[in-house]
Amino acid sequence: MTPTGLRGRIRLSAPDVGRREEQLVVEAVRSGYVAPLGPMVDAFEAEVAARCHRRHAVALSSGTAALHLALLEIGAGPGTVVIVPTLTFVATANAVVYVGAEPFFVDCDRESGNLDPELLERCLAELEAEGAVVAAVVPVDLFGRCADYTRLVPICESHGVPLISDAAEALGSAHAGRPAGSFGRMATLSFNGNKIMTTSGGGMLLTDDEVVAERARYLSTQARQPTVHYEHTEIGYNYRLSNLLAALGLAQLERLDEMIGRRRAIRQRYARLFDGRAGVRVFQSPADDGDNCWLSAIVVDPAEAGWSSDELRLVLDAHDIESRPMWKPMHRQPVYARARSLENGAAERLFADGLVLPSGSALTDDQIAAVSTTVDEFLDERRGMG
Ligand SMILES: *Cc1c(COP(=O)(O)O)cnc(C)c1O
Repeated sequence: MTPTGLRGRIRLSAPDVGRREEQLVVEAVRSGYVAPLGPMVDAFEAEVAARCHRRHAVALSSGTAALHLALLEIGAGPGTVVIVPTLTFVATANAVVYVGAEPFFVDCDRESGNLDPELLERCLAELEAEGAVVAAVVPVDLFGRCADYTRLVPICESHGVPLISDAAEALGSAHAGRPAGSFGRMATLSFNGNKIMTTSGGGMLLTDDEVVAERARYLSTQARQPTVHYEHTEIGYNYRLSNLLAALGLAQLERLDEMIGRRRAIRQRYARLFDGRAGVRVFQSPADDGDNCWLSAIVVDPAEAGWSSDELRLVLDAHDIESRPMWKPMHRQPVYARARSLENGAAERLFADGLVLPSGSALTDDQIAAVSTTVDEFLDERRGMG
């Protein structure tokens, strides 16, 4: 159900919301639990925790809030360093600044776009040598592909540094037989409007540690003491998820596997579309059944292809089809101009040569056909010119 005002333009990853969502939100309104918290928040937490193989889940107002609380709980603060992949959405880095810690950006593996384990190892060794206190490493599951936890977890353990998994993009994905969100001391999810599933805005903190979960509940409700009056001994936040939004989340969760299936079919379609075309590959591996296929992207080698990702983007735009470069690396962001980083050039190349294509599960067959036709015509025309 695309709102009428947005019909026409084919968007990257629009919310996929229908009757079931409407039904459960109406149910939540009628139940009287309209203020924050309520039975649907509890049910939503229990279901996500089970899905992610975690003992505890705390529903929050955003993925950014979840990262903020996770870093507070791990003890990241002034005088500590937090390692963040440079190829990520800005929220991962901003949460580090919220707690007063120093973000240190590390580059990625060029095939997956995820934190490069060898570079992480080098970074930890260098920071150790200078006597820095590293409070956490925060790998990101880029576009729904889990980071290489098989290698990252032992590296963090051998340096005694806790790992917080930013799984905002990866709900429903798996790595080595374990679900996204199950890795690290804590993990965070996002239910923003463009993510694999949405509560319109929301997030979650996942952990197996009851003390961590209880403290997140306390900090996210203004750190109120258990007294009749309002008593506060610490600074808290207003970060809890509303019961109405949890209703939306429960309905989306029922449809998660179906929505992932739809996104995977779209990625496979792109794999066929670009198959045999010189100088272009579908990003990450279309064969990997573990991915939730949140966003599908291509990587273009302009010298070999004879065209650039930006040229294709402009042609798509002229046909009212949205596409976008991958995340601009954090070490290249003006706001982080003075932050330290360790690079191998992979994130910069992916930013220059990558293009994210319409990937949402709400795309209709006609819309996907329109994207395919436009891309095909563009490729045929370029080949004609070459
Ligand atoms: C979306 C996202 C976030 C932030 O989530 P919000 O719910 O929008 O605050 C954090 N990290 C990554 C990698 C994301 O993609």
